[in-house]
Order: sequence, then C-alpha cells, then structure tokens
Amino acid sequence: MADFEHDLYGIRRWGDEYFTILENGNVGLKNPSAPDNRPVDLVRVLQDLGDRGIAAPVVLRVTSYLQHQVRRLNTAFADAVATLEYQGVYRGVFPIKVNQQAEVIERIAEAGAEFNFGLEIGSKPELVIALSQKMGENALLICNGSKDSEFIRLALMSLKLGFNTILVLESPRELDLVIEHSTALGIRPQLGIRIKLTNRIGGKWSESSGDRSSFGMTTEQLIDLVDTLRAHDLLDTLILQHAHLGSQIPDIIDVRKAVGEACRFFVELRGEGAGLTHLDLGGGLGIDYTGEQKSSRNSINYTVEEYCSNIVETVKYAMEEAGEPHPCIVTESGRATVASSSMLLFNILEASHFDTAERPEIEADDHHLIRDLGEVTSYIGAGRIQECLNDATYYRGELRALFGFGRIGLRQMARGERMYQYVVGRIKSVAHETEGLSEEIETALEDHADIYHGNFSLFQSLPDSWAIGQVHPMAPVQRLNERPTRRAIISDITCDSDGKIDRFVLENGIANTLPVHPLIDGEDYFMGVFFVGAYQETLGDLHNLFGDTNVVTIELGPDGGFNLVHEIEGDTIAEVLSYVEYSPQRLFDNFRKVVEGAVSRGELSISERRAMISAYKESTGGYTYYEK
Ligand code: PLP
Repeated sequence: MADFEHDLYGIRRWGDEYFTILENGNVGLKNPSAPDNRPVDLVRVLQDLGDRGIAAPVVLRVTSYLQHQVRRLNTAFADAVATLEYQGVYRGVFPIKVNQQAEVIERIAEAGAEFNFGLEIGSKPELVIALSQKMGENALLICNGSKDSEFIRLALMSLKLGFNTILVLESPRELDLVIEHSTALGIRPQLGIRIKLTNRIGGKWSESSGDRSSFGMTTEQLIDLVDTLRAHDLLDTLILQHAHLGSQIPDIIDVRKAVGEACRFFVELRGEGAGLTHLDLGGGLGIDYTGEQKSSRNSINYTVEEYCSNIVETVKYAMEEAGEPHPCIVTESGRATVASSSMLLFNILEASHFDTAERPEIEADDHHLIRDLGEVTSYIGAGRIQECLNDATYYRGELRALFGFGRIGLRQMARGERMYQYVVGRIKSVAHETEGLSEEIETALEDHADIYHGNFSLFQSLPDSWAIGQVHPMAPVQRLNERPTRRAIISDITCDSDGKIDRFVLENGIANTLPVHPLIDGEDYFMGVFFVGAYQETLGDLHNLFGDTNVVTIELGPDGGFNLVHEIEGDTIAEVLSYVEYSPQRLFDNFRKVVEGAVSRGELSISERRAMISAYKESTGGYTYYEK
C-alpha cells in the first residue's frame, strides 16, 4: 500500500532541513550541507546496525548535522556582522553541560576550529575536558559556575599555556580567591562578571531570568566588586560581562529586550573603568520542536539567522548611542548546536488495544445489559457519536456495578467488557471518517487509544519529556506511505506509570495520541524521537536500572550511503549494578552458593546447574533493554 502521501507527523514542518520521507515510506536523512546528495535510508541504517549486533534502543548521532549546526551559527553571526557593518567579532562557545560526551565535544571543537568556537565550562571536570581539546587559537574558554581554589588555580595556569580562559565571577566571594591565587601564581587573570538582568524571559525557563534568578550579581554587588577590583589594580582584567538570557526562548522580542538591558550594564561598567571587551549573552537560542514557528513552549518565532542579526543590531545601536566601541559578542548556544544531531530509535515490543473488530455473539443467557450494549452499534452514525459513547459507557458502568454486587459472574463480566470494546471499535471507525469532532468526543476517544510498548526508558533517554513536559517530534521511521489506522500513546519499558509519551507533534499541532500502523507479526516497527542531542543523554537516570543505550555516530555519504564513525556499547547489566554499589562478582558468588546448595540437596542435576550458571552469567553481561 504505497498510496498515502500525507505528512501526518509534520516532518516537513519541523525537520525539512534534515529529514524526508523516501518513496519506500522510510525516513530519509538529508545532508543539509549537500542537499543534492541522495538521502540515507534510516531503516537501512538500523538494519546495518542490527547486522553488526548493535540493537535498538540506540541513540544515533549524525556528525554531518553537528557540523552543519556549528557552521550555521557561526556563519549567521559572521553574515550579520558583515551586513550591519559591526566592528567587533563573534566568538561563540559551546556549553559542555548540554552534551559532555567525548565524541560530541571533540566533533564540535573540530568543526568549530575555523571559527574559533570555544567552550563554556561549569565545573572542574568540564574544565579538565576543555583543556584537552584542540580548538582555534582565539577560541574562548569561559568558566562559569561556582569555583573553588583548585578550579581557579587550574584556570589561571591555563593562561600561561596560551588558552583564552576567562573566569566569570559568579559571586563576590570568588573574587577573594582569584586575588589570592593570581597573586600567589604571579598570573594576571582574565575576568568576567555575571550580571542579573531584570527582564523576565518567557518560556519554560523564565525563572533563570529576573530578580529571583539564582545566578548573577545584584547592582550593589557589582559596585562593590568594581571597587574591590579597582583597589587591587585589576579593573582592566575585567574583560567580559556575562548574562545568561535563558534557554529555549520562544519570542525574539524577549531576546532583544534582554540584550538591550545587558548593553546598558556593559556601558555603565565601562564607564566605571572596567576593561570590558566581550559581551557574553549566554544561551537561549531555541529549537522549533513543533515546526509551528510561533512563540510557544516548544516552538520559537525566529530563525537562527534572525536571532544573530537581532543581537548584532541591538548591540550595535546600544554601543553607538553610548559612544562605546563594538564589543566582541559571545553566545553560549547549547541546545541549538546539538539538539538536532541525535535521535533515539527504538522498536515497539507489543500493542495493547482497547477495542476489537470482532463482534461477540449474543448468547441466550447473556444479561440484557450485554444485549443493550450490542444494540448501540445499530444507531452509530456521524451525528450520534456522543450519544453512542454515552450509552455504551452507561451500560458498561451498570454491568460493572452488578459484578460488584455479586449479581453477575466473571464470565458475564468478561463478555460485557468484550462487547464494550467492540462498540468502541465501531465508534472509532465512524469517528475516524468524521470531520470536526467535539473536544469531548476527541478526549473520550483518546481514553481508548492503543498503548504501544516501546523498548526504551523515558527516564534514561528522554528525561525532559518526563520532568518538564518537553515535546520532541516523533514518528514511525517506516511505512510512512501507508495510512496509519490506529492511534496510540507510547509507554516505555520501565514499571512506572509516568514512563509514557502522550503528547505528539503532528502536522496540525500537538495531539495527545500518535497515528500508528498496526503491528505486523515478525516485522520490526521502529519509532524515531528526534532532536534529542541536548541535555537528554546527560540528565538521564537509571530508573529500574535501564542503563545507557547503544550510541552510534554516523557520517552521511554522497550516494545514500553512510560511514559508521563511532560506536559506544550501551551499559551491561553488570555495569548498571556496579553503579548502584553491587559487586557483580559477589552477586555471582552468592548465586553460585544457592545453586550448589540445591545440587548438594539433590534438587538440581549437574547439567541443570551448568545451564543456570551460564544463564546468570549471560544475563549479567547483556544489554539492560529487551533483547530479541
Ligand atoms: N550558558 C549557561 C550559563 C547556561 O546555564 C545554559 C543553560 O542553561 C546555557 C548556556 C545553554 O543554554 P541553551 O541550551 O539554551 O543554549
């Protein structure tokens, strides 16, 4: 059946740059830097990985996408700088916390070298990572976060090695340590200062801005700090002003307002004698997860290019008005750099249905309510959907009450439930063909949607979906040329009722159920969750002891082919056990003792003993997810 051409999942809207639907109905991976190349068939990638023993669930990283995003951001800023005749330069940094994986950081450093793209550091381990990367000569290392003596000393020493390390003072307390260590080491620091903007930014992270934000110094603290720096003859070392505008900022007007406010601080601090040359605006550049191009929680009303030109223009006008030179503009775009480069791919293990197409025969001794329930199908029609739903729900409720009072038995109850499922199935198929259903009917039908059970852990692989209601675009990666005839929510493999996805991006906006195809026996049905490269790998946890998934990095080839450039095996059971302080060896020894005991009591034969020991060992060395 290759007659279905709708883009139900809105792939063209949210993913046109990277994805396409191939003629065979599979998702194709487009190379945004070489749009004429034949797209890579995602199902073929999965089959190829399967042949190599790399099973789903798998996080697939596409280096071509990462390179493209790094280039796109830097080029967009360079273009804005040129077009607006801005006199300063742009020096972006990637915040390591957004995806610390070695493969990702190395690729970003590599792709960003020609643009002097640097790194933002928020902790000692991140500083250690940053100091081992090969970057452009003028790339910045911006150290945010709380800093102890160790952190400050290493950052100061790195200046001697030629790194452009800037210590951003987050609080007045840090300055005392910086003065102490820079004096002791005889190294003049390069300092930044984190200010607190009063403008509140919209979106999910509005609390990271405004008066109550936990970061940045108040105006009073700024004045004290400037005075202390002056007293120590260090005011000229204060070269960067930092303000993190927010994350996933939906509205470009908020960006402009916040940048304008940051410029006012910048101008005032320069007036105080600070040697400020760099204006760091933090993160905030969003991703259009839904493709709606509007100012809403999962979308944005601007492009990367607009974001860059709006910033450059706002800074230019503010500086010109104040008679100040144009500073070097720094941003710390994490999400926008990495989100699109990774996708989570998992197989559906089974489906739970809440309707049936088979009509149960009425039997002579059936309770009349079962008969009444069956009668509902005689008047199902487009104009009577609500009535049919009401009636069916009423009859089923009565049957359940009778069961509760002991007036009907389990078999009658089961027949009643079966009849109800049949009626619901009939209502659904009429509703499917009906336009303009009321919200109440839509909601009632959603309550009867299938549950497709996916081989993944929401808590490990999509934590933001659980924690903050993040909506990631998602679609089956095959059979897209076939009309999906069912609607489902997706549940994960953990034993947690929160482990489900019930908000989906579709062609016309966000829906509570996902159109899906009926499963075919013996055929894999893979789902793709897209734009998961930012924060998800890092924030994931071991709920139910489902560990890290397999991770594979590919590079798109010119002729529909691809190269597998890196592979990390997911956690084994032994590994996750050791993360929670078990010694797999001790567990095995204990198990062996139990088995030996059973053998010595004659309850187990020697060959059963061997089978048990090897089953235990095999399990311990295996993948934590469902294996075929
Ligand atoms: N910089 C700082 C200081 C941050 O706290 C964050 C994220 O919260 C970022 C940059 C990255 O923000 P985004 O991913 O929105 O670009």
